[in-house]
Amino acid sequence: MNNFHTHTWRCKHATGTVKDYVNAAKEKGMKVLGMSDHTPLPDNRWSHVRMDMSDLDAYVEEFKEAETEGIDILKGLECEWDPVYEGFYRDEILGERNFDFLIGSVHYIKNDGDWEYLSEIRTAKHLAKYAEVLIATMKTGLFSFIAHPDGFGAGYTKWDSNAEACAIDILVAAEELSIPLEINGYGLRKNKVLTEDGIRSVYPLLNFWELAGRFDIKVICNSDAHRPEDVDASIKECKELADKYNLNVIDDIRG
Ligand SMILES: [Zn+2]
Ligand SMILES: [Zn+2]
Repeated sequence: MNNFHTHTWRCKHATGTVKDYVNAAKEKGMKVLGMSDHTPLPDNRWSHVRMDMSDLDAYVEEFKEAETEGIDILKGLECEWDPVYEGFYRDEILGERNFDFLIGSVHYIKNDGDWEYLSEIRTAKHLAKYAEVLIATMKTGLFSFIAHPDGFGAGYTKWDSNAEACAIDILVAAEELSIPLEINGYGLRKNKVLTEDGIRSVYPLLNFWELAGRFDIKVICNSDAHRPEDVDASIKECKELADKYNLNVIDDIRG
């Protein structure tokens, strides 16, 4: 079992250093560990939930200190897509700084000029916006996989024709672009969401993954650890879900 979604203390809402995660992963017998702290952004947008630009050098340094035998450590970042960041991701992060991988994530959508968080997704218009940004993220070719593509369910609590249309748009794009989608275990450990049909996890959305079974896509199961002790948390449950819906699970992001 490997994990490619991992956060450190630098993002201001997680604990542990790269080395702490490496030690935890080795103890669990992992062969590959992908570190993917929330990327800093050149304009310091949403800086309350990510490292500052001034932290990037020190984050990169941590990988040198954490090097050890018996496990491959991949240097990565979890990123929000906006065309204004293209040069930063492509030239600085993947280019000059030689990062191994990037995760594409959508945590915010722009609605009538305001940024809104996933939990504020309420309408068909929001859903369309979410799918649009997520698909634009996929199309960049910058990202190794897409984190929690079912994240719209954090706010949109019904499974109706609007939710299904959003899911289908995302799944069609993932199939066309051959980009893996993540079943994210953190959603199983977060506060539950109250819906008309009862209480459920914020994600994974079962309806989404059931539908995914009809598409020729790859999925990856990650912990999205925010504490070293969670380095492999919930991955087993995510894999069971993938098996239930006959999904094609990959355990490494390196081609
Ligand atoms: Zn986080
Ligand atoms: Zn994450």
